[in-house]
Amino acid sequence: MDATDLSANRHSANVHAAIKYTDIYFKDGNIVLLAGMSYFLVHQGLLSRHSEVLDQLIRTMDNSLVLEGRPVLTLPDPSPDITHFLKAIYDGISFLTHDSQGFPTLSSVLRMLTKYKVHHLRNDILRALSVSWPTTLAQWDARETSVTAKAGTYTPLDALPHPIQIIRLAREIDYPPLLPSAMYDLSRITPRQVALGVESPITDRCTGLTYTDLLTVLKGRERASRFLSTFILNELEGRQPSRSCLHRKDTCRIAFEAIMFELLRDIGGIISNLTSDPLYAMSEAEKMHICDDPLGSETPSMKPCEPCRREFAMTVDAARVQFWGKLPEWFDIEVSTWG
Ligand SMILES: [Zn+2]
Repeated sequence: MDATDLSANRHSANVHAAIKYTDIYFKDGNIVLLAGMSYFLVHQGLLSRHSEVLDQLIRTMDNSLVLEGRPVLTLPDPSPDITHFLKAIYDGISFLTHDSQGFPTLSSVLRMLTKYKVHHLRNDILRALSVSWPTTLAQWDARETSVTAKAGTYTPLDALPHPIQIIRLAREIDYPPLLPSAMYDLSRITPRQVALGVESPITDRCTGLTYTDLLTVLKGRERASRFLSTFILNELEGRQPSRSCLHRKDTCRIAFEAIMFELLRDIGGIISNLTSDPLYAMSEAEKMHICDDPLGSETPSMKPCEPCRREFAMTVDAARVQFWGKLPEWFDIEVSTWG
């Protein structure tokens, strides 16, 4: 960022009407930061150490504006944003939470850390966010397990920020690695819900995607759905039993057919609050294969024998890995490390 953009000390008229922010006010401070109608008495050396942008602003600031005997640096940001930002610099980021309630504060801090180039704290927050919007399938599966209620109902919005908020934030701070999983996350609800956006808990206003991102998510959704259809056609329709099949009759072939019909009935939909989740659907197909007839008796069973189950499980695992690997391409996102 160009320091002149921030144009320090333009708002000198505010300085005498500004109110001291007592929680971030150090008597041994040697610089006053003015943001909106609040001021903070802080330490130049600390700010310069953490932020190269603030360091540059401090070096070039006009020292003629003084408050409480210290030079004043005026910042163009809203006072709550600077409050959270300074709190992060002085106290660390442990006060932030990653749930939907804590998201407005977390996103404010992340925007400020990005703007003022406080790299280490920004990286720490991004690492924590990546647990919920990850780049690997293993992390995604762990996340899904953590947000699925015991009854099997998928309830992410109680625990996590809405994916639309994550997509907007990732765009704003220019951090693409969050985008493929956030867009996939979003693509699992209906296109109508995607287009309607999400209501902000603070302003009660609806926030939606940009038109370009909306089209991208809907296009990615179609591609993901096509992958599942192809998987069903190639791997389940008319699937032959394993060469090591333990059943003599058609039991395993019939079992695969039953699984195919279950998938076609959209098992990921009504049952779990998800309308389109191929990753979930494929792993459910695998779970339907838990063998209750490992010795291969001739008792009729709708589940395949262990060798057939094992072969199909490997097929599902490979398909899920391939699916995950495609997400950046399907959602038109360039990421340097994925999968
Ligand atoms: Zn079999």
